Amino acid sequence: MAKGTAKRKFDIMMKTSDGVVIVREDVCRDVVKDRDAYVAVEGVFAAMAAGDAVNFPVVREAIGHADALYGFKSGFDRAGMALGVKSGGYWPQNMANSGISNHQSSVFLFDPDTGRLQAIIGGNYLTAVRTAAAAAVSISHLARPDASILGIMGAGHQSVFQLRAALQRRQFSKILGWNRSADALPRLAKLADEYAIPFEAVTPDAMTQADVIITITSSHQPLLMADHVSPGTHLVCMGTDTKGKQEIDPALFSIGTSFTDEVAQSVTIGEAQHAIATGLINEAAIVPIGRVINKDHAGRTSDDEITIFDGTGVGLQDLALASVAMRRAVEAGSATTVSF
Ligand code: NAD
Repeated sequence: MAKGTAKRKFDIMMKTSDGVVIVREDVCRDVVKDRDAYVAVEGVFAAMAAGDAVNFPVVREAIGHADALYGFKSGFDRAGMALGVKSGGYWPQNMANSGISNHQSSVFLFDPDTGRLQAIIGGNYLTAVRTAAAAAVSISHLARPDASILGIMGAGHQSVFQLRAALQRRQFSKILGWNRSADALPRLAKLADEYAIPFEAVTPDAMTQADVIITITSSHQPLLMADHVSPGTHLVCMGTDTKGKQEIDPALFSIGTSFTDEVAQSVTIGEAQHAIATGLINEAAIVPIGRVINKDHAGRTSDDEITIFDGTGVGLQDLALASVAMRRAVEAGSATTVSF
């Protein structure tokens, strides 16, 4: 059956159903792969830049219980017809107290024509793959085609997803890894080994060798300084998604060209917040990556240019992946439908 016909049949089935589809975390893992995430996230960034998709203001609050940060990210993608909300946050004691991930989230999708609740989808795995996909999209569009050394700073939960997605975008011949505590680096070394790429544990100053550097930590002070970065490098700043976090020297923003998923987030909760606050750059200097995808901006213009992607994480990424998970799980018979 042609793809368009299958999609129409699926849409009609979802509209006429009186049930709500539930897609469990383990099912999301089975039905949404890195390639699906890449295509969905690239499409969402393009739709945002074209004015076809809008993220609504983010809410994120300390709830005054369990040291938790709770919030929601919501939006509407008219191009992909995805309307919904990801709700959840960070519960720092989860792993120690109950062995479950500190990051907890769920996605709710609604029918854009009627507002009816369509699906509830586990958001933990999808958050990791959509974040890694954003980094991968930036590498595809902004890193030098001949980039061969990949640096990664941070070795927490997200890092493995980041590394795997990045390895699919360029022919990397070496990986340099740094983490505050070296104990966590073997998880990155193991993945490098699976791809038969040499892995080296390094100090941040060794990142001068890297052509692409991913930062994926929860740091609140710069870890990667301007003199750790060589001309022509693509920086992928993924850890800073909250006011006060910081991973790179703000001076890098004045010597590099800045790109982001969403400018409004980049200047407030993203890595660029510090360069903006100190007047090193202004908001107009930050380019939505969707413009590069849509060929409305040249992106990198020379082999010497330092490019920076400030990946802040937008709700539309979650909705796009949740839509893929819903469709695939229903088609595979692995979703549960309940009357509602
Ligand atoms: P995690 O808790 O599993 O790992 C945290 C990592 O940060 C570890 O490598 C740790 O060593 C490092 N770290 C913590 N404090 C540090 C400090 N002061 N200095 C240097 N390193 C420090 O977290 P995770 O799930 O891997 O997430 C990493 C970061 O990515 C978090 O800040 C998270 O909020 C962010 N994140 C961003 C997005 C996005 O869309 N941009 C999405 C999900 C997570």
